[in-house]
Amino acid sequence: MAFEGLAERLQGTLQRVKGKGKLSEADVKEMMREVRFALIEADVNLKVVKGFVKKVSERAIGQDVMNSLTPGQQVVKIVKDELTELMGGEQSKVEFAAKSPTVIMMVGLQGAGKTTTTGKLANVLRKKNNRKPLLVAADIYRPAAIKQLETIGKQLSLPVFSKGTDVSPVEIARQAIEHAKEEHLDTVIIDTAGRLHVDEELMQELKDIRALKEPDEVFLVVDAMTGQDAVNVAQSFNELLGISGVILTKLDGDTRGGAALSVRSVTEKPIKFVGMGEKLDALEAFYPERMASRILGMGDMLSLIEKAQTNIDEEKAKELEEKFRTQSFTFDDFLDQLGQVKQMGPLDEILKMMPGAGKIKGLENAKVDESQMGRVEAIIYSMTPQEKTNPEVINANRRRRIAKGSGTTIQDVNRLLKQFEDMKKMMKQMSNMNQKGKKKGKMP
Ligand code: GDP
Repeated sequence: MAFEGLAERLQGTLQRVKGKGKLSEADVKEMMREVRFALIEADVNLKVVKGFVKKVSERAIGQDVMNSLTPGQQVVKIVKDELTELMGGEQSKVEFAAKSPTVIMMVGLQGAGKTTTTGKLANVLRKKNNRKPLLVAADIYRPAAIKQLETIGKQLSLPVFSKGTDVSPVEIARQAIEHAKEEHLDTVIIDTAGRLHVDEELMQELKDIRALKEPDEVFLVVDAMTGQDAVNVAQSFNELLGISGVILTKLDGDTRGGAALSVRSVTEKPIKFVGMGEKLDALEAFYPERMASRILGMGDMLSLIEKAQTNIDEEKAKELEEKFRTQSFTFDDFLDQLGQVKQMGPLDEILKMMPGAGKIKGLENAKVDESQMGRVEAIIYSMTPQEKTNPEVINANRRRRIAKGSGTTIQDVNRLLKQFEDMKKMMKQMSNMNQKGKKKGKMP
């Protein structure tokens, strides 16, 4: 998980002061020593660590905190506020042009995740901002990159503009923008060439593309796992080319978090999105405050709710409610529900966003038993359509057959049937209560 080490250290340190009714200057100093150590260990830029510790100390030693009734809690709040500030304060949204198309340039070194992120970003902008993206393959030096983008486009059912490797990147970009206008595609996302290092030639090419039409956003894609190297790359790109924001990839594998905590402060450019996995839906908007909460073990319920909202289909939810009400919920609906929960991502990742989850011993290594979900699915798949809609017909014989067909035991089948019955009973009670509530509301 991202920030694992830092989270553990900071939470441990803050836990010790949290409940204190009185806090001395020495207490604060001691605490700040630990905070400094935790940040350095997380590979945060040294200057950034110094600035952070100074700010928190000054505020924490202030009279209003020391004399307050809950100095410990106030200090925790100060650390959270300053962590939020460090990562940019407010969420930084994508800037769209008043006049279409919006042009977004994706830049970065090879292997950072630029091509994958180009697809992920288009997917997010389509889903959340209702945009119509056009992906542009302008990395002509790596033919595989063009293929890769085309494959991603296919997977996401998004159009990809490519001209092979014989046309210059600038010309490709120019034609792509024209093409987008003709096709009424309002967001052009250009996947530019990557290099192993920042070099003159690359910068010149990027500047030429940028001279074509001033992009609305220039997003630098950097690999969070490379820590301070990522921050240095960001600084170079910002000085040589000018960027408008950073997308940090592979945060899912970054246990330290140094890049995420330093990049904003060093470059003064906001982190706009973070990559949380290889899959094409694993790109999240970056919210400094939520991330700070997560680091401090205060949970991240908002991201969780958002995840649920994007993955759960409104229409389906309405249908389901109707089924609850009319008692026509079947095992097929149950399967559908399981599928939606699964789409939200690995269950252990979801669990970690809950407040206090960090303190549950062993959770960091816990793999939620997803095989249990697999078993449930297998059982339902082994039922006949009649059994799925009318589970009452499932007698002992049928139970045996289903267990055999799904490679489970009769006990597993019994358990699921019982759960399903209980669920239906609960729904009945709930809808009865709702109906009563509604009737009452109508009385004069
Ligand atoms: P490019 O050379 O910068 O275009 O990089 P690619 O898009 O080809 O990505 C390089 C590798 O990083 C691929 O294997 C991606 O699947 C992987 N990758 C990209 N973003 C993420 C992420 O957020 N998390 C993880 N775990 N892997 C990622």
